[in-house]
Amino acid sequence: MPEPDTADQDGDVLPVFNGVDLHGTVEFPGCGSAAGKDFGGLQFSKPLAVIRPANSDDVAKVIRLASRSPHLTVAASGNGHSVNGQAMAHRGLVLDMKAVESEIHVDPTTAVADVSGGALWEDVLRHCVLGHGLAPRSWTDYLGLTVGGTLSNAGVSGQSFIYGPQTENVTEMEVVTGNGDVLVCSKNQNTELFFGVLGGLGQFGVITRARVLLQPAPDMVRWIRVVYSDFSEFTRDAESLVTRPEGDSFDYVEGFVFVNSDDPVNGWMSVPLDPDQYFDPARIPRSAGPVLYCLEVALHYKNEDSPSERVEKLIGGLRFIEELRFWVDVGYIEFLLRVKRAEEEAKANGIWDAPHPWLNLFVSKTDIADFDRVVFKNILKHGVGGPMLVYPLLRSKWDNRKSVVLPQGEIFYLVALLRFCFPYPKGLSVGEMVVQNQEIIQSCTKNGFDFKLYLPHYNTREGWKHHFGNQWTRFQDRKATFDPMAILAPGQKIFPRNWQPHDINF
Ligand code: FAD
Repeated sequence: MPEPDTADQDGDVLPVFNGVDLHGTVEFPGCGSAAGKDFGGLQFSKPLAVIRPANSDDVAKVIRLASRSPHLTVAASGNGHSVNGQAMAHRGLVLDMKAVESEIHVDPTTAVADVSGGALWEDVLRHCVLGHGLAPRSWTDYLGLTVGGTLSNAGVSGQSFIYGPQTENVTEMEVVTGNGDVLVCSKNQNTELFFGVLGGLGQFGVITRARVLLQPAPDMVRWIRVVYSDFSEFTRDAESLVTRPEGDSFDYVEGFVFVNSDDPVNGWMSVPLDPDQYFDPARIPRSAGPVLYCLEVALHYKNEDSPSERVEKLIGGLRFIEELRFWVDVGYIEFLLRVKRAEEEAKANGIWDAPHPWLNLFVSKTDIADFDRVVFKNILKHGVGGPMLVYPLLRSKWDNRKSVVLPQGEIFYLVALLRFCFPYPKGLSVGEMVVQNQEIIQSCTKNGFDFKLYLPHYNTREGWKHHFGNQWTRFQDRKATFDPMAILAPGQKIFPRNWQPHDINF
């Protein structure tokens, strides 16, 4: 096998792969290849090669190959739905994880599914529900994401207040480390790797298989939206729903902010769940400010049951504006695939493929009222051209041995500013949106808010150290153990590639 580091960084890299016996395929893409872009549309790169691995052995061979070179890096790419180049490898090797033959094996007796790291959650959903009447317990809002991609972050949605994020619903993984070792890990085996990889931003290993907890799937979902003009009433009700004893609340609780106007994208019309439903602005109190709040909840039920009585019991006592209540009954799969409909519309309008300068934050309950005042009611009073999610999560549902970092305190809020770019000058330009995101982060810092970026993105070591805070040393130690040459996930820009030749057997 030739010396891999003889590869010309810009040109012919074929010699690098000579003698490496892969079952999958290798492609040397030109400029503008899909692997050099992501959903964010803000970062671009030129990978040396895109590898479509057939199995974990191929993944290990590619990592070992990179370890023989002083500069090669390896990025596992899920569905490329990052927004800041996190799954890219400029002049490096990109592993297209979706190419690994998607395997989903359900064990109904233990209610778990073994799924490949590159499987899309929407395929896991269909396979588990249609084949076995079972379903994963914790989701993301959109399911065109890969298992390995969301487990490398957290994976949050309206079920997280009950079951924790997706990272809390995995009991075992097969991981290929930055040392090229294929290891099975769990709470009892290779423990440090297991906890490190979950929320580990792809830094410690490539997830090739995950064992996901399942529960019986319902047939139907009653999906409800209620509107508030007062933020403190909205948060009081949302927090009361997520802190009720298990089984005594809805199965899903989320919320969003919208503009108090007839703007078709940012305003009242974003609330009704069905085109036949009418949002009557006359119901909005005169005291209402520039933005309003929508609590979104859902209750599961079986075909033979009616959810109405339980819904009324759960909703009784909530302080929403009585006449601004919307609901529909939908099938369980349709509910979980609800964002796919929005994706189809956005694709038809050409805005799905435009840039997405998204910003996601976790903000402590102690600061969320000030955040509303400073950010929602002020900086974002005209909206972001897409959903502005805000809903509470519970810290006690997150195991702090995992790599995700959170604000202090039991209750914190997910804030997701899901910006879509409409033809300028109707909305802000992409550059203006990026500047507005920076303004929001600076305001949070200046006001001393307790917050963390979710799906974080920093360009400096100082930024990362500050992000991880007192968990930085543990994160660094895990890197030194599992990926000492910093081969993996270079797009996160946490650790520079580090050349330490050592014995790796091919
Ligand atoms: P990629 O973007 O391809 O990869 C993300 C990171 O994980 C990269 O660093 C990559 O190297 C690494 N990685 C990928 N695969 C593996 C693997 N197998 N092993 C190890 N590392 C790997 N997030 C939520 O939590 N909740 C939501 O409701 C939600 N909704 C979203 C809706 C949309 C429309 C979009 C675009 C994103 C949403 N996200 C949400 C964010 C999503 O979780 C992240 O984008 C995540 O990165 C998953 O995307 P992906 O599978 O395409 O991974």
